[in-house]
Amino acid sequence: MFPPLPNPSVQPSASKFGEQDLVRRSASTVPQPARQLTPMAKLIDVSKCIGCKACQSACLEWNDLREDVGINHGSYDNPLDLTPNSLTVMRFTEWVNPETKNLEWLIRKDGCMHCADPGCLKACPAPGAIVQYSNGIVDFVHDHCIGCGYCVTGCPFNIPRISKADNKAYKCTLCSDRMAVGQGPACAKACPTQAIVFGTKDDMKKWADDRIKDLKSRGFKNAGLYDPPGVGGTHVMYVLHHADQPKIYAGLPENPRISPVVQLWKGLTKYAGLTAIAAFAAIGVLHHVVMGPNRVTEDDEQNAKRLAEDRS
Ligand code: SF4
Ligand code: SF4
Repeated sequence: MFPPLPNPSVQPSASKFGEQDLVRRSASTVPQPARQLTPMAKLIDVSKCIGCKACQSACLEWNDLREDVGINHGSYDNPLDLTPNSLTVMRFTEWVNPETKNLEWLIRKDGCMHCADPGCLKACPAPGAIVQYSNGIVDFVHDHCIGCGYCVTGCPFNIPRISKADNKAYKCTLCSDRMAVGQGPACAKACPTQAIVFGTKDDMKKWADDRIKDLKSRGFKNAGLYDPPGVGGTHVMYVLHHADQPKIYAGLPENPRISPVVQLWKGLTKYAGLTAIAAFAAIGVLHHVVMGPNRVTEDDEQNAKRLAEDRS
């Protein structure tokens, strides 16, 4: 059994990470951070989820967000999709296992996966609108967002949503504000079955191993960890009872990758920029060789003096 997370501290504490810990910043560069934070991760054990939506409510509550009362679409999914307010949603799937003929109810908490190689950040053209910290958090900085929606296109999990209210992109922050003061994400705190747990990525992988062994001993021979290598691994991972078929969990991608268009766009802009810099440098050198250095003549000096006197 996973030990309960400690209760939130009531003592204000200094921020544990900040600007100095950035490893990536959209459309700009950052200096190499002086330290490497411990990579953190959230582990979502789909086999332990009871679909109570405590995590979904805790997310709204912590972020002070509200959804309008919706309508029943004949499913437990509500809202039906992620929105700029609902940064996480539960996705319910009824699946008939072809081997056992049993009806299985697969419930997956959807939201940002905090990819090690984030397509959203690579696609974003606004300097500093998306940042990545060395602990793995990918965060949106709304003051810098221009609402172009490229992050939506760049994300292999189709996660960010653009708000009609302020034309900015929104997604799960992995509770970066809570983490900065030593707290775990609100969803993990609220989950009554500890289907969501949080800690260092290494520890979460060890917990996942134990859960997978347990599931295998109970007949789920394909139980496994979802930590897709195509995006360099993720800082939100799933334990799946049918890890050989992620798609059955409401379309979880089998092998998510950053779209080649985004890679091409990144490559082109980078190489176009470098080529332009090299061309300007070459023109400068050529000018210096052919024309010689700029020299101020005696006449120039006299003219400048006259102009200054006329103005005074
Ligand atoms: S909408 Fe997305 S891609 Fe566009 S600026 Fe905002 S964060 Fe960047
Ligand atoms: S899941 Fe999408 S929005 Fe989240 S870090 Fe990965 S690419 Fe960005």
